[in-house]
Amino acid sequence: MNADAPLAERLAVVDAGIADAARAAGRDPAELTRIVVTKFHPASLVRELAALGVRDMGENRHQEAQAKAAETEDLDLRWHFVGQLQSNKARAVRRYAHAVHSIDRESLVRALALEPDAGDDVEPLASFLQIDLSGQPGRGGADPADAERLAEHVLATPGLRLVGVMGVAPLGAEPRPAFARLREVSDRIRSLAPDADRISAGMSGDYAEAILEGATHLRIGTAITGKRDERG
Ligand SMILES: *Cc1c(COP(=O)(O)O)cnc(C)c1O
Repeated sequence: MNADAPLAERLAVVDAGIADAARAAGRDPAELTRIVVTKFHPASLVRELAALGVRDMGENRHQEAQAKAAETEDLDLRWHFVGQLQSNKARAVRRYAHAVHSIDRESLVRALALEPDAGDDVEPLASFLQIDLSGQPGRGGADPADAERLAEHVLATPGLRLVGVMGVAPLGAEPRPAFARLREVSDRIRSLAPDADRISAGMSGDYAEAILEGATHLRIGTAITGKRDERG
């Protein structure tokens, strides 16, 4: 695609691709949430996206996310935190995030918990368990075998609302089998918590495969935003 293509055009191309993939999977495109991952791009791009009707934005680093959320506070946006999260940043992320997609260990669940004196008006944080799909521990994501235990922790933690699972397809392998494994974990989690039925999967290069395996939340960066150096 032409690097100069206006943002609106790239957004429209991706949304058409999402709609096509949904139809191919026999699913209603309206049940999918397209998150635009704006990492490496300035808050001005977030504003342009908001003007095009985008409401769900994704970021993977706390400092950058916090700054952009503050700069666009006047817009009615939902920030999705999708990157690896250090426990000592968890409380700060809660202040601006609508959802965290990368919950992969018990210490992080504890760090994200609401303080007992937080008051009643704090929205529960939409919580996705990140599941490792690569079989190589240490790259982010819980071992699939630990998913139920982690889910129980989230369910027992004040201020967190378990909504589903998240995964990143491993580099250099077919994405669809990885997304199929994520779907199996999702099925197990749903037998424990029927409402936790969301699946956050699919990026610029593999969202069609993710949709075929049941993804409900797509995290799309470069196909919409362009590469940062393309924007000068
Ligand atoms: C950057 C990022 C994305 C978006 O990736 P693209 O390939 O640019 O679409 C999605 N998920 C996570 C966790 C990311 O860090």
